[in-house]
Amino acid sequence: MLALGIDIGGTNARAAVVEPVTGRLVSSAKEALVDRSPAAVVAVVAALVERVSRGHDVARAPVGVGFAGMLRGDVVVNAPNLHWRDVDFGGPLARALGRPVRLVNDLSAAAWGELSGGAARGARDTFTVFVGTGVGSAIISGGRLLSGATGVAAEFGHVKLVAEGGRRCGCGEHGCLEAYMGGAKLTEWMAESGVAGTPSDLERLALQGDAPAKGLYDFAVGHLALAIANQVTVLNPAVVVLGGGVLSRCPGMVRRVTDVVMTRASAASRQGLEVKLAELGDDSGLVGAALLAQG
Ligand SMILES: [Zn+2]
Repeated sequence: MLALGIDIGGTNARAAVVEPVTGRLVSSAKEALVDRSPAAVVAVVAALVERVSRGHDVARAPVGVGFAGMLRGDVVVNAPNLHWRDVDFGGPLARALGRPVRLVNDLSAAAWGELSGGAARGARDTFTVFVGTGVGSAIISGGRLLSGATGVAAEFGHVKLVAEGGRRCGCGEHGCLEAYMGGAKLTEWMAESGVAGTPSDLERLALQGDAPAKGLYDFAVGHLALAIANQVTVLNPAVVVLGGGVLSRCPGMVRRVTDVVMTRASAASRQGLEVKLAELGDDSGLVGAALLAQG
């Protein structure tokens, strides 16, 4: 049976009809989220589902939704990009679509997509880290997504690098990895430090030896790399999957992370380990959400 996948990020929503075994997109559509109120996002998603469903037998297809935010069941606990806190989103969306939906964190969806048809095909234990606007992760252990006691496990962007006086993060706390390494916050930090441009510019300047750029780059990327190495020691994954807009545009960051993981994760945990770039690009979340909804 075909499945429906939905991906809701900070700026766009996408929907697709997905083939179950191959993960191939049969039809897909995308819409910018201009009005970011929950009711408006529900309306955009309902319209997208109607558009991609035309001509396909998906009236009873399961619906999986990958959402860029911290979730507890149907409730969005915190979505900094949309400025939502404690919003019941799954309930109204299910009513609008006239069927149940499965809401999952966007990184969980992406990790599942990569496991099903991307960089981690065939693996059962993976640690997936995406660095884009923010920093997100997902843990698949023994073929199952780890969600934790209250559903907020694997929020890797919010591990602390600095115990006191750290930079403020979009989550409201201080000293989080994302407050230094997430694309949005890194760009902010660069501007404050007199380094103009994007994270790609930072990488170029740092590798050229520009001192202020190198200071920021070494701190942010060094901590990202060490934090991933430590997770490898704890989780013993078969594959670390790296992706997201910042990492996919900054090969130097990927090299640094790979080097540090392969030297600083415990020797036992890195035996046979592969560090790979995500392969499904922007589609991993759509594919994963659809396949997760199929159960
Ligand atoms: Zn945070």
